[in-house]
Amino acid sequence: MLRAFKALSTTEGVSVASDVALASCTTYRIGGPADLVAVANTYAGLVSLFRVLEAEQVPWVILGRGSNVLASDAGYRGCVVRLGSEFDRIQVEGTTISAGAGVLLARLVNKSLSEELSGLECCAGIPGTVGGALSMDAGSRHEWIGRAVRDVVTYRPGVGMRRYLASDIEWGYRWTTIPSDEIILEATFELARSTKAAVASEMNRRLARRRATQPTGKPCCGSVFKNPGDRSVGAMLEGCQLKGYRVGQAAVSDRHANFVVNEGGARATDVLAVINHMHGQVQERYGVDLTPEVKFLGFEG
Ligand SMILES: Cc1cc2nc3c(=O)[nH]c(=O)nc-3n(C[C@H](O)[C@H](O)[C@H](O)COP(=O)(O)OP(=O)(O)OC[C@H]3O[C@@H](n4cnc5c(N)ncnc54)[C@H](O)[C@@H]3O)c2cc1C
Repeated sequence: MLRAFKALSTTEGVSVASDVALASCTTYRIGGPADLVAVANTYAGLVSLFRVLEAEQVPWVILGRGSNVLASDAGYRGCVVRLGSEFDRIQVEGTTISAGAGVLLARLVNKSLSEELSGLECCAGIPGTVGGALSMDAGSRHEWIGRAVRDVVTYRPGVGMRRYLASDIEWGYRWTTIPSDEIILEATFELARSTKAAVASEMNRRLARRRATQPTGKPCCGSVFKNPGDRSVGAMLEGCQLKGYRVGQAAVSDRHANFVVNEGGARATDVLAVINHMHGQVQERYGVDLTPEVKFLGFEG
């Protein structure tokens, strides 16, 4: 790891740090040290970065803002890759907006509003980056970002870049057919001409619902589990009377039973224990095997 760190320290277009607390890279504010965190600031830097990681056989994971991640207390033995300045660009052309994968989703959403373009309202209020949102196909159960995509450019380490047209990709509720070993670099969204008032009204409706139903101000990862089919996971968890259930400093939110919040100083093992309890209770009461929406980083197996 030391050799990789040294090589990356002198790699153009890359900035690297060692022993970085994952708590500082995730919205949960939880997680032990990652051996390395490397930011690729340029396309060329990204390619060089992966050359080093491959040569030194360092495992890697790409992260945006870590808003959908629970990182282990032991941290991550490998390199967390993030996208920097060259991937933080937005460009508007007619009714399309192109955005680098490192752009904050909120910035993209605001851009669509100021340009009076409709199609990204479902992303209002969702934290994270464009890359993370595309990887997760972020949105709600019924609408998601993938529907607005015209094309996506990805990079497969050791192979190269690839442009997918909308017709090459399938999207669904928190899934996409974009291969999970490819890094999303940028995307173009095909939007519809609208008015600022109409776009704002649709965004505000979703923001108001979010404010009314979700915990605010406490570190979390959003929804822990996906809704199974047409059923509401929140209702099932409430049926199990799990609101307020806690282990250590991790608790099921009083406002939304599918949110597990960090009450301050929670450990990943606390959150995991709460999640496992939720899963077990729903399995027992409803016979449903819930699928996590949150991604786990640095856990064994
Ligand atoms: C308060 C709160 C509310 C939320 N509400 C919603 C909601 O309403 N709807 C919703 O869908 N989500 C919601 N989320 C979850 C989260 O914000 C989204 O999943 C978001 O899109 C993740 O973006 P990110 O950049 O933080 O990705 P990360 O959490 O960093 O990563 C998530 C996944 O995407 C992968 N990834 C990240 N960047 C890239 C890339 N460039 N290329 C390839 N893969 C990549 C990661 O490896 C990981 O598997 C919420 C989270 C919080 C904290």
